[in-house]
Amino acid sequence: MDEILHSNGRQAVPDAIPAEETAGGVREEGSSRQGRRPVLDALIAAGRSVGALLHRADAAAAGHKAVGPLAFLLIAGVIGVALVVGTVYTPSYVVSVDGVTLGVVSDPEVFEGAMERVEARASDILGYDYTLDNAVTYDFALTEKDKLSNVGDFETYLFDQIGEVMKSYVLKVNGQFIGAAQDETSLTAMLDAIKAPYVNENTTSAEFVESVSISRQYTPSDVEQDLSAMEARLTANTNGQTTYEVQKGDTFMQIAYDNDMSLSELEALNPDVDINNIYIGQILNVREVIPFLSVQTTETITYQEAIASPVEEVEDDSMYQGDTKVLDAGSEGLAEITADVTYVNGNERERNITNNVTITEPTAKVIAVGTKERPSWLPTGSFIWPVYGNITSYFGYRYIFGSYSYHSGIDIAAAYGTGIQAADGGTVIWAGTGTGSNWSYGKYVIIDHGNGYQTYYAHCSSLLVSVGDKVYQGQVIARVGSTGRSTGNHCHFQVKINGTTVNPLSYLP
Ligand SMILES: [Zn+2]
Repeated sequence: MDEILHSNGRQAVPDAIPAEETAGGVREEGSSRQGRRPVLDALIAAGRSVGALLHRADAAAAGHKAVGPLAFLLIAGVIGVALVVGTVYTPSYVVSVDGVTLGVVSDPEVFEGAMERVEARASDILGYDYTLDNAVTYDFALTEKDKLSNVGDFETYLFDQIGEVMKSYVLKVNGQFIGAAQDETSLTAMLDAIKAPYVNENTTSAEFVESVSISRQYTPSDVEQDLSAMEARLTANTNGQTTYEVQKGDTFMQIAYDNDMSLSELEALNPDVDINNIYIGQILNVREVIPFLSVQTTETITYQEAIASPVEEVEDDSMYQGDTKVLDAGSEGLAEITADVTYVNGNERERNITNNVTITEPTAKVIAVGTKERPSWLPTGSFIWPVYGNITSYFGYRYIFGSYSYHSGIDIAAAYGTGIQAADGGTVIWAGTGTGSNWSYGKYVIIDHGNGYQTYYAHCSSLLVSVGDKVYQGQVIARVGSTGRSTGNHCHFQVKINGTTVNPLSYLP
């Protein structure tokens, strides 16, 4: 038997609608098209001749009560043919769309199902209810059962007729649609351009942190295809305000604190900034710029690094305990380091040292450490309170004796005769009653603590030390009184550093 197919020779049935295909596996258009050699005329002719044959057989059977051997053979042959026809052929419909014959279906419902699926898919892509408006006709025919058309082919054909959708290369980041292009290379070139700023001659790999995919699929015909708009979206910062303009009174430390960062974290974001010398209007980075699409690069770099000198301590019984002296500064060594450094958007994330070669060995730093017992009068470097009591007057400008005046220390109220202790060890350089411009101090003591530090204890009722005495921290050097310019029993405590009067509260515990 001949293959029985539809009547005209048009190759109207393309491949089935492909599911989403990855860029690597894009199917070539038209590769699976199959021409179906139509013999609809033959089909129809065969249908007619079979019908005529059956008709004659019926007539023969009806007209002869007794069937002779010849008639029997004839009838048996006809029935045999009919059985063969019924087994091999099936009633079917030739489907034409807009005058183009597409193929053969067993029932119009088969084709209508295909149309519904195409409409559903197009509606899904377009975002609104899409209806096919093609003119469809069905013509009855008999067809070999295994020659019915592939329904998927109808769907592909119908889909390709829809002007509102097209096939594109679609770019997605973490599954989120970004845009589409008619060629894959323009998308990959745009992605490469995003990586480019982070790539240099040491770069060994450059990857996107997020999942990036390009797939060939149907999209609405008015899909985003502006590559520069896509690039702008992918490189846009997603981390809010990342900079801060320095205001009057700001310190680097305060800015770090205000942004929940350590000093070193803020420094790392501002490698070119002198943290001790920020100025009003300066722009500091207070957060990392995090683009929509992040680039992770790895570089293999080689650099030289100092090797710190090991420290050797040498005991010295001519020096006091706690004192040290550098005998030999030593010299740093030098190493050549090779490391694999990982960056995200240019910010270092990880550093793996793969090779470390010493070029120059360091020499030891030698420090002499004192072992001699420390005399009690040596200053400790920190102050204790000379007396304990309420502060009745603070350092700075104050209203007293009918006018504003500058107060050079703090006044600590205490009972008459209370012992006044040396705030730290040192040498008494004044113990006596003030005269001239120092009259207002009354009886007072000055102790020199070395390193430019001096302390004053004034308005005393009595003095217990003399000039030249070495005093230790906590030693009672005088007693509380109200001599000089004073309105009650108290100790006026004053601190000078290199001759400048400072606020004692800044140096007291
Ligand atoms: Zn005072």
